[in-house]
Amino acid sequence: KEPTDINALADEYLRLAYHGLRAKDKSFNAELITNFDESIGKVNIVPQDMGRVILNLITNAFYAVNEKKQKDVSFKPIVTVSTKKSDEHITISVSDNGDGIPEKVKEKIFQPFFTTKPTGQGTGLGLSMSYDIVTKGHDGKLKVETTKNKGTTFIIELPN
Ligand code: ADP
Ligand code: MG
Repeated sequence: KEPTDINALADEYLRLAYHGLRAKDKSFNAELITNFDESIGKVNIVPQDMGRVILNLITNAFYAVNEKKQKDVSFKPIVTVSTKKSDEHITISVSDNGDGIPEKVKEKIFQPFFTTKPTGQGTGLGLSMSYDIVTKGHDGKLKVETTKNKGTTFIIELPN
């Protein structure tokens, strides 16, 4: 682990993922919102591992809003990345305004190889790997809050 600027890490991956997606699909557009707690300072993490988690969550968020956009041309995709420091925790949240995760699907999302994506588009490993990195690798928690038609927020909670 090493002291890491998680705001910079999250910002970098957000832009990287967005431009990667736009390079493949010129018609895709999303509003990116960042809400960084500047008081966080450096956090002791494995930057490559936590970077992968953040990238996984961001990639899933873009996929969710992109799917909704395919069904509804007037839909305005928004992906928000926030960080927050409290007395007990450091949190990194990734939110999208996609369709949310149905209850039956939500039960399985952290299982290895579980995916609802067409063959070739998802390995179903992103969230199970992310879960292990956050819980086993960083003593943290990975939580999900989702509302039908409104969107989804994944929250990485690390001990402060
Ligand atoms: P993959 O992205 O390869 O499918 P993941 O482990 O990253 O694998 O995600 C597993 C499943 O969880 C996805 O296939 C999808 O059904 C669901 N999921 C994850 N993130 C979101 C999200 N932001 N909005 C809606 N569904 C999601
Ligand atoms: Mg994924």
